[in-house]
Amino acid sequence: MAPIVRKKILVKGVVQGVGFRPHIYKLAAAHALAGWVKNDAAGVTIEAEGSSSGVERFIREITLKKPAAARVDSVLVSALAPAGEKTFLISKSGGKAAAAAIIPADLALCRDCLRDMTDPADRRYLYPFTNCTNCGPRFTIVKSVPYDRPATTMAAFKMCPACRGEYADPLDRRFHAQPNACPVCGPAVRLEAGGRSFSGLPALERTAQLLIAGGIGALQSLGGFHLACRADSPAALRKLRAAKRRPHKPFAVMVPTLAAARRLCRVSAIEAAALTSSEAPVVMLRKRVPGSFSGAAPALAKLGVMLPYTPLHAALFRLLEEKGFTGALVMTSGNFRDEPICKSPQEVRIALGGTASFTLWHDRPIHNRVDDSVAFEAAGELRLARRARGYVPSAVKLSASGASVLACGADLKNTFCLTRGAEAFLSQHIGDLSEPLNQEYFRETLVNFRRLLKVSPGAVVHDLHPDYASSAIARSLPGRKTAVQHHAAHALSVAAEHGLEGPFIGLAFDGTGYGTDGKIWGSEFLVFRDRTWRRGAHLKYFRLPGGDAGAFETWRPALALVRAAFGGGWRGAAVRLFSGVPAAKTRTAERMLEAGLNCPETSSLGRLFDAFSFISGVRGENTYEAQGPMELESLYTGRGAAYRFEISEEGGGYIIDPAPALRAAARDRLSGKPAARIADGVHKGAAAMAVETAARLSGDNGIKTFCLSGGVFQNRTLLELITAGLERRGFKVYANRLVPANDGGLALGQAWYALKGYNQMM
Ligand code: ZN
Ligand code: ZN
Ligand code: FE
Repeated sequence: MAPIVRKKILVKGVVQGVGFRPHIYKLAAAHALAGWVKNDAAGVTIEAEGSSSGVERFIREITLKKPAAARVDSVLVSALAPAGEKTFLISKSGGKAAAAAIIPADLALCRDCLRDMTDPADRRYLYPFTNCTNCGPRFTIVKSVPYDRPATTMAAFKMCPACRGEYADPLDRRFHAQPNACPVCGPAVRLEAGGRSFSGLPALERTAQLLIAGGIGALQSLGGFHLACRADSPAALRKLRAAKRRPHKPFAVMVPTLAAARRLCRVSAIEAAALTSSEAPVVMLRKRVPGSFSGAAPALAKLGVMLPYTPLHAALFRLLEEKGFTGALVMTSGNFRDEPICKSPQEVRIALGGTASFTLWHDRPIHNRVDDSVAFEAAGELRLARRARGYVPSAVKLSASGASVLACGADLKNTFCLTRGAEAFLSQHIGDLSEPLNQEYFRETLVNFRRLLKVSPGAVVHDLHPDYASSAIARSLPGRKTAVQHHAAHALSVAAEHGLEGPFIGLAFDGTGYGTDGKIWGSEFLVFRDRTWRRGAHLKYFRLPGGDAGAFETWRPALALVRAAFGGGWRGAAVRLFSGVPAAKTRTAERMLEAGLNCPETSSLGRLFDAFSFISGVRGENTYEAQGPMELESLYTGRGAAYRFEISEEGGGYIIDPAPALRAAARDRLSGKPAARIADGVHKGAAAMAVETAARLSGDNGIKTFCLSGGVFQNRTLLELITAGLERRGFKVYANRLVPANDGGLALGQAWYALKGYNQMM
């Protein structure tokens, strides 16, 4: 007879609320083992007793056969004396123990549930709240920990006997699925349209009809409402854009299947995996036909695409297809401009009443509002541009732990970061903090996070900018305050993600950040060594007539830069570039430049790219952030040669002068060359400049590791050109993946700065 052994097994990772205990229970049954499994503070603890070979296979299969939504970080095994048990049990989770457990992120509809709800014989046929332990709402419905049904917005729904049976059966896919529901006992949809209301299936049928007819509807999703309409209806899109005051900003679309996405866009293996993942972000895909989707994403080569991720979406697309519509729906955040995404029909009435002509909502309230996440592939990795639904509140693992820190982020694309031990929890995308409702959203989310994580941070980190709303919020909170320079935080967000310990050089290419000299930085080469940092190189300062207005009126940075590049000769040909701008405006700007009034100095690479987009003729004005540079990148062909930047040594570092590149671009434009020529020259030129400057710094200090971050690195072309250039020289290159390179990832770098005790070298 095989010897009987008993092992204690600790499993860490994302192992709660994802069907892990039933998985263990089934494995134990398969190998005829006795013992128990329970959730606790560390993750899942198991004691398993049986034949040594059975226990061995059991341990192997814990990871091998894990549920789709689970992530196993470690499996720790120790030996115990056999206890002679005969059965295997699932123990209740302990109250105190579960306190520190992880709240899982929301999970997109799984294949099994899709099958259930598309089977006419199933009791959940077209039921828009179908879920199981592998899918469904989590973070969006949880109010407190431990994550159990009474702690969620499902508390009011009493399970029917059939659902209760599933919930209590360890072998069922819905064992302890907290939001488990069916048409008999669960939430229901309602449609309000033109003074009439519908519920259940008729509500979905009618919604499909209204959408096909070209209507704009507010549809309740996982973390908030979408505004939805046909992507192929110019009239609907015109109305939607007018109501949101978004003349050009790209809107994401939802298509029924991966195959449908492939018909519209090119989809790589990495992109396909992201689209069909349980995080189900919006993925930026290259359009098959340039110029297609001119209503949803005008003048851009890429389109944001997502697949149905809730059973409600799946049911709706099914009904649309039945009625002959198989196209794409625009699904954009249901908010007014930069306000928080609406999470209740009351909020929809106030913010979107004039926009949406019908509202499809349901009675499973959203507790934590959360926008769709946005991802893109660059340099062979999936990267996030917005980290929200599906990713939050999953932790970013750190390579060091310390006392809890709260980092408040920046004012644009705000997120905050709370650390607990060696884990960093970033909030969902909160947005632009100059909007007072978003400051409330920040505070509301901070309260929710502190309740879920049970931490009280002793240190509060904020941006160096004295006038940021995020800095003001930080100052109003208890705890020791630390101010961190914006671009140092960008670079450190990469170091934190990748657990970099040694010295490195950060390339922070960005729109705006407050510098230690009070100027507006944005093209920084920062040298990090021994927990200190210093600025090694940057773009030559230029004046920005009108200050912040320059981020929208691209002719402003262009005027300042072209004028400086041509010097005395500027009145010759180059002035013709500005013939489309009202003369009174350019005259005022010139006077401001001459007098040095309201002309802050900046080294912003974002503004330099804005200027190039103006010079190329693609954009005289940005109606959304970085519109010109995004449209310019869309024209990149890779065929034209690089423009030249001049790098010179100054005060122990390097100053980069873009004047030769500006002159070349202006001449190309004035001689009638296509904008694509300028797109090529700018992207290749900026990449060559970055690589050359990096190499000189490396030559001086011997550092061969580089971290790329900042909003400009959402430009895939630039990120890939610079990465390839640095790698060709034998350097090691890291960039953001888990958090956005834009200000949405800044809080992670701020937290890491405090946690590791960094300082600025004076
Ligand atoms: Zn499921
Ligand atoms: Zn039920
Ligand atoms: Fe930034």
